Amino acid sequence: MSGENCIFCKIANGEIPSATLYEDEDFRVILDLGPASKGHALILPKKHYPDLYALPDELAAKAMVLAKKMITKLAGALGCEGYNVVQNNGALAGQTVFHFHIHLIPRYKDDGVGLGWKAGKLSDSDRDEILDKMKK
Ligand code: AMP
Ligand code: ZN
Repeated sequence: MSGENCIFCKIANGEIPSATLYEDEDFRVILDLGPASKGHALILPKKHYPDLYALPDELAAKAMVLAKKMITKLAGALGCEGYNVVQNNGALAGQTVFHFHIHLIPRYKDDGVGLGWKAGKLSDSDRDEILDKMKK
C-alpha cells in the first residue's frame, strides 16, 4: 500500500485525529483502538515505510530509544507490571497495517493477553543449517 492510501500515514501526520501520547518530528505515539490491554500504544513514523526491512537505520534506532522512553513513562502512569514491545512484519507474522509500527503492550496480572509460543527444541540439523546459511 502506498503512503497516500495509508491510514497510519494519515494518523501520524494529524490528518485523522488520534489519542496522541507523544509527538516529535519523526514519530507519533497513539493509543491503539483495539487494545490488547489497557494502555496499548503504537509508535508510528511520520513517513511511510511498510515494515522494518524498509525502515532506515537511523529511524530504527530512534524508534527503539522512543519505545524505551514511552514504556518507562507509561509504566509509571499505568501501574502495569511488565511490557511487551512487539513489532510484526508480514501478514503471516500478524501484520495487518502495512505502515511500520511498534506495539507497546502493558502487562497486568491475569490480563489474558495471548502473546507467546510453545517452545520447541533446537535440532542439530537446524542449528548447523542456519549457521551455515548465515555465513554466506
Ligand atoms: P498489526 O497487526 O501489527 O499490523 O497492528 C495493527 C494495529 O493497529 C492493531 O493493534 C489495530 O488495533 C490497530 N489499529 C488499526 N487501525 C487503527 C486506528 N485507526 N487507530 C488506532 N489503532 C488502529
Ligand atoms: Zn503509511
